[in-house]
This record gives sequence, C-alpha cells and structure tokens, in this order.
Amino acid sequence: MRIDLHTHSTASDGTDTPAELVRNAAAAGLDVVALTDHDGVGGHAEAIAALPAGLTLVTGAELSCRLPGPDGFSVHMLAYLFDPLEPELARERDLVRDDRVPRARAMVTKLNELGVPVTWERVAQIAGEGAVGRPHVATAMVELGVVPSVSDAFTSEWLAGDGRAFVEKHELDPFDAIRLVKAAGGVTVLAHPFALKRGHCVSESAIAELASAGLDGIEVDHMDHDAPTRARLRGLAADLSLLTTGSSDYHGSRKTCSLGEFTTDPEIYGEITRRATGAFPVPGAGG
Ligand code: AMP
Ligand code: ZN
Ligand code: FE
Ligand code: FE
Repeated sequence: MRIDLHTHSTASDGTDTPAELVRNAAAAGLDVVALTDHDGVGGHAEAIAALPAGLTLVTGAELSCRLPGPDGFSVHMLAYLFDPLEPELARERDLVRDDRVPRARAMVTKLNELGVPVTWERVAQIAGEGAVGRPHVATAMVELGVVPSVSDAFTSEWLAGDGRAFVEKHELDPFDAIRLVKAAGGVTVLAHPFALKRGHCVSESAIAELASAGLDGIEVDHMDHDAPTRARLRGLAADLSLLTTGSSDYHGSRKTCSLGEFTTDPEIYGEITRRATGAFPVPGAGG
C-alpha cells in the first residue's frame, strides 16, 4: 500500500485540478491519497467524482494556524476525515480562507510600492477558484521576471515571513483547530513541524502541549526535514505517543516534490481512519 496524505490542488495553491490530481495519484502508483488544500474543502467533490478505480481518497484540509503569544508564528495543521458541514469548523475555515483575499491584495500593494508592477487582477486570475496565497503572488512575480522561480520569491527580500512584501493573514489558534477538528469527527496531524527553512520551527515543548490538547500526530517524512530532523521527530513522537506520517506536500508544478515521494505506513493510516468519525475514506469505483 502506498499512501500519500498531503497534497494541494487548484482549490488552493497547487497546479493540478482535483480531477487531474487523483488521476496523477493513480498513475504514480498510489493506493491512497489525501487532498489537503489550504483552508478549504472546495476540491473534494471534483476529486471524488474523478476518483479512478483502485485509488482511495482521504478528504482533508491544511489549516493555517498561529501559535498563541507575542512570539507566535505560523504552523500548519493537517486535518483529515472531518465532517465538512460541521458549522463551527466550517465558519472558522471560511474566515481564514476569506481573509486571504485582502491579505494578498495588501501584498500586491507592498510590491507596487517596491516598484514591482504586479496587479491584483493577474494574481486573482492565477489563483482562480483557489484559496489565494503567496505562491500565486510569486507566480505573477515569475511572469514579470522579478524572480526566476516561485521559491525564489520566498526570501526576506520579498515574500518570506520577514520579507518586505509579506503581510500576515488571519489564522486559527492551533489549540482551537485541534478542538474544532475533533468536534467535527476529524484527526489532526501537525504538518512539517521542523521545516526550518520556513523561518521558525515549533519547539518540542509546544508540540508536547499540542499533544496534551489532543493532537493525533506529526508529519515526519517531508521534503523540508533532513534525516537527523526526522530521527529527532520520530523520537519525540514516541515520547508523546503521537502518530507519524510521511507525505509529499505535492503542489503540481509549483513545487518540486512528486506524488508519493514520501509515504505513510499502512498501520498508521489504519489508525487515522479508525479514529475518524466525521467522514469515511472514499474508494474509487471498483477499488
Ligand atoms: P500562504 O499560505 O499564502 O502564506 O503561503 C504559504 C505557502 O507557500 C505554503 O503552503 C507553501 O506551499 C508555499 N511556500 C512556503 N515556502 C515556500 C518556499 N520556500 N518555496 C516555495 N513555496 C513555498
Ligand atoms: Zn501550499
Ligand atoms: Fe504547509
Ligand atoms: Fe501543504
């Protein structure tokens, strides 16, 4: 069984439509794929409708969170198999997603002040129906020749957390996110906790507090973690009785990772599905 529990489609900042994503997942030899677009579930229906035989879809989302306190920074919470209609979680998810629009517009304004002629119209066009974010702004910058690639826009010169054109967005308290997802029958896994190149990494004590608050697992095998980091995370997970996952964080052509580049142990996948009560994995027709 090959299981990839973290992917993005055009419903957020990936470049595959949800239908293309599930077809590509089957072609990549995956048995299970989770669709975890940022702050939204808008891609689920299309992914389910297009699901090839033999591939199972795990519905999910990656919730943008901010650790509480004056030094709080962004963390990403993967949420799986929650009830997408549960109203409290849906409302909070929509607040985060909706705030991305004025925030992206503010980043465009900052770029204009820095002499970069990106337009909101073009960024909105690139984002389409997706939850608009920095990768869309970065794509517009690549088109203008300001930076050679999307990842080159994630520097202090431009869009990184300490970047000149960076603007914060509304984010959930991760403790609230855990509670909300659980109340909606879902399971939570902290995404890429030690991804240092994103600026900060979560402290071990913060992970312990999240674990006490009901966090189910942490993402260990991820492109942003090197081998020693993964070993440290595995040790921490063992100490805190957390599940460990591995996933690609696939974004289509907007990032270099490929579907199935990292995968999750079938036993852990089984445990995630046993804990979830908000939704069931969806088997592809005949699968
Ligand atoms: P946002 O949610 O708008 O703040 O944008 C965050 C997204 O940008 C993440 O989900 C990643 O997909 C992407 N991202 C973050 N850092 C990088 C990077 N160094 N290179 C490319 N994409 C990045
Ligand atoms: Zn993303
Ligand atoms: Fe993330
Ligand atoms: Fe992601």
